[in-house]
Amino acid sequence: NEFLDAHEHDEDTFVELSLRPQTLKQYIGQDKVKEQLEIFIEAAKIREESLDHVLLFGPPGLGKTTMAFVIANELGVGLKQTSGPAIEKPGDLVALLNELEPGDVLFIDEIHRMPMNVEEILYSAMEDFYIDIMLGSGDGSRSVHLELPPFTLIGATTRAGMLSNPLRARFGISAHMEYYEVSDLKEIVMRTSDIFDMEITDDGALEIALRSRGTPRIANRLLKRVRDYAQIKGEGIIEKEITDRALTMLDVDRAGLDYVDQKILRTMIEMYGGGPVGLGTLAVNIAEERDTVEDMYEPYLIQQGFLIRTRQGRKATKLAYEHLGIPYFEND
Ligand code: ADP
Repeated sequence: NEFLDAHEHDEDTFVELSLRPQTLKQYIGQDKVKEQLEIFIEAAKIREESLDHVLLFGPPGLGKTTMAFVIANELGVGLKQTSGPAIEKPGDLVALLNELEPGDVLFIDEIHRMPMNVEEILYSAMEDFYIDIMLGSGDGSRSVHLELPPFTLIGATTRAGMLSNPLRARFGISAHMEYYEVSDLKEIVMRTSDIFDMEITDDGALEIALRSRGTPRIANRLLKRVRDYAQIKGEGIIEKEITDRALTMLDVDRAGLDYVDQKILRTMIEMYGGGPVGLGTLAVNIAEERDTVEDMYEPYLIQQGFLIRTRQGRKATKLAYEHLGIPYFEND
């Protein structure tokens, strides 16, 4: 599903970069997170210290990477970017740490997917800015002590629960990114259309905002597809009716649920009487990875009240039945 894919990088890096807000002021939404960070960044700057390590968690596409760049920019420091799966062995991490200038940000996306022997090196690096590494093996091996400049680690993860306790404990600041309010998404859509010189009406922007699953990445992608549609099937103006037609064609329904969301709810109801059904079973039935369902789909369905988690498994709610137009019976 191209609209949700967490690991796929946006098609055009240049365009992507121009879309990224640079400062906390330009960053739309996430007011609670911004308020916290503003204070901590200011305090670190006044004391001329590196900012404490920051853990950002939340579903894909909510602006974690963007926020990491904003933080580095606000601090006036450099940023080195990598991801958990990209750091395969301790040496990869050591090389990155070695390049840091005092105060720099090291951003590790999907930090929960880092191998354990790499993670262990991070502990002393985060806590006391040094690493001890073993070089060579057997009789010829020796331990090397390396002092590091003070730096800020920013880790991003889709699920806080995936992090080991020792790693989590070393983050002084931990921020939970929430799905965006419709008004914030509308502002993001307006901002993007402005950057690309698109003609869009107020209710067109609202319609895209309403159907973007609370996620800026999805809002921006839907906007691009609606623009194409408007150009070919309409007058090139992104208004409500053309948006509705384009999104319906893309299987994004009126509640903003996409094809997979709908399939999840339908499977629960039609094959399992509404649940409870285990996550693994559900994932197999819809031919998706379990992690994908848990990280990308389920949180939004829960937040919107279509699905609940129980001890026995996941259950579809009355609202899910109503949304799909399936009759609901209380003790089903
Ligand atoms: P994540 O790292 O959480 O997966 P990204 O930071 O890559 O998300 O953001 C996805 C897309 O959404 C990017 O194109 C980014 O420019 C845009 N975006 C995210 N948050 C905002 C925001 N608050 N305001 C404007 N655009 C945003």
